[in-house]
Amino acid sequence: MQKDIKGHLIKEVNPGSIAEEVGIEVGDYLLAINDNEIKDIFDYQYFTENEEVNVLIQKRDGEPWLLEIEKDEDEDLGIVFDNGLMDNYRSCHNKCIFCFIDQMPPGMRETLYFKDDDSRLSFLQGNYVTLTNMSDEDLERIIRYHLSPINVSVQTTNPELRNMMMGNRFAGDALKKLHRLCDPANGLELNGQIVLCKGINDGAELRRSLSDLYAMRPSMVSLSVVPVGLSRFREGLYPLEPFEKEDAGKVIEEISYWQEKSYREYGDHFVHASDEWYMIAGLPIPGAEIYDGYGQLENGVGMVRLMLDDFYSCLDRLKARYKEDPEFARHIDERRFKCSSVTGRLIYPWVKEMADKLMEFCPGLDFNVIEVVNHFFGERITVTGLLTGRDIIDRVKQEDAGEVLLLPGNVLRAGENYLLDDITVEDIERELQIPVEIIDSSEDGLVRRLLGI
Ligand code: SF4
Repeated sequence: MQKDIKGHLIKEVNPGSIAEEVGIEVGDYLLAINDNEIKDIFDYQYFTENEEVNVLIQKRDGEPWLLEIEKDEDEDLGIVFDNGLMDNYRSCHNKCIFCFIDQMPPGMRETLYFKDDDSRLSFLQGNYVTLTNMSDEDLERIIRYHLSPINVSVQTTNPELRNMMMGNRFAGDALKKLHRLCDPANGLELNGQIVLCKGINDGAELRRSLSDLYAMRPSMVSLSVVPVGLSRFREGLYPLEPFEKEDAGKVIEEISYWQEKSYREYGDHFVHASDEWYMIAGLPIPGAEIYDGYGQLENGVGMVRLMLDDFYSCLDRLKARYKEDPEFARHIDERRFKCSSVTGRLIYPWVKEMADKLMEFCPGLDFNVIEVVNHFFGERITVTGLLTGRDIIDRVKQEDAGEVLLLPGNVLRAGENYLLDDITVEDIERELQIPVEIIDSSEDGLVRRLLGI
């Protein structure tokens, strides 16, 4: 390795890429681009944007090799590095009173306890960051390199309250970085998130935060408000109470005020309540037009509306085809299939509604949607993605699950075949004595499987 230069090990070279074309190989090290040392992914993104890039590589035999590459602007070189960030991951310096990682039981896989708070992950993967450990140098690079969107966990714009909620006396001060990033002259886009804790940052504090963040438009593009997730493992942690029906109604009311204002002034809705609020409040899910293109899906905003709309337009297409295509109609009339699937409590009523509609369309279909209560984390955790294998097995055992159990893909850890509690798909099959199929998250995929089309 060249002295004093940090090299980045190349793990993969994408087939057909520029990197492959010019002879860059797995095992080579990237040393510099256009004479600039590459500290991390921020530098790499920025310096590879140009049409002409001079890439300094060190081959496996130690020889340096300078490549002069011409490419389209923004065209990727096609290199995958051993470490996606090209630097060490930064963990958070906070002790948030609402942190879900602190509410996990001991003894789970170590990676589940990692608390990241790395602005480079925000840019790369859309993670939300608190800005509390963003260095001034990173801040300047984000602005200079024009890296966006940046997703920020705001919680509150009251500095003292932010210090308290994040257990970090610098958390309030970090809001200055938010103001700096939101300076319209930078041309950056930011998305915000507020985790709401009852009696702490709701009510008048929420109004203050929404008002302050609204003033950061247009740089602050969207904002989601989600209720704090409370598991049953909160012993010794800050006492937090769950939101009840009336509280949720007030939160939705406050958000609606800002949505209407924003729609009048900017033509979009800006701030969004996550789906869970509607479930707690017992209110219907709003129409698609509220969600401004579903930019906050990752925060559980609009997932139910999108799922229902996709399903009903799929059902309309199927009904039309049934009328026009006799062979298809015969297939639907003769279809006999008995199966089951599982959901968390949050979306159960809507998945059940869709299952009933589909069984009306195809009377030989017997689709049992099983609502699973999360005993592992506690019943206040209602999302399907946090269900464990043990809770699913114990619940499905009480039901007639049919020929096959269709397991939603989001209960599996990314790219793996095990659930949060390390129970594998094979374990579920063995215990339930039933085949398990993983279904993709699109409604189309599920409907196709159920109807055999
Ligand atoms: S920033 Fe707060 S919520 Fe996020 S991991 Fe750190 S302590 Fe937990």
